[in-house]
Amino acid sequence: MTPFEKLRAGWNLVNGSTLVGLGLAAAVRCSLAPGPQGLILAHGYGLGLPKAAAFTVGNVVLFHRSAAGLADNPQLLSHESRHSTQYALCLGLPFLPLYAGAALWSVWRTGDPASRNVFERNAGLRAGGYTERAVRRGPGRRRAPSAPVA
Ligand SMILES: [Zn+2]
Repeated sequence: MTPFEKLRAGWNLVNGSTLVGLGLAAAVRCSLAPGPQGLILAHGYGLGLPKAAAFTVGNVVLFHRSAAGLADNPQLLSHESRHSTQYALCLGLPFLPLYAGAALWSVWRTGDPASRNVFERNAGLRAGGYTERAVRRGPGRRRAPSAPVA
């Protein structure tokens, strides 16, 4: 573990986000394993929400039971590691409402919760398994006026 990863792991423990992740993992009876970059991998998440195959709370990456093989995907783990850093930068659990707001913004702009979500974009859309959708053009959005014809 790098010094940065140690610092992040310690800070996410202090700010409570990793404890919430561990509590969630325990509540749904996930098995735990140490992962790369100071992450804790929780396998066997079985609830319907969130719909993602994997998601992160603090330094805990929870994998849906239908997605056990994803824990070996280094791109996805790097994506989830960036979310762990985002928790640290948001002082822990304030990440959750901020993420929800960013997801709502993205749904409004593109119809999906990731394409314009600043947190998912920062973590890497492709690494997270997302396909970027174009921004919608709504009725209130005008095109830039065209140059006058002389
Ligand atoms: Zn993500």
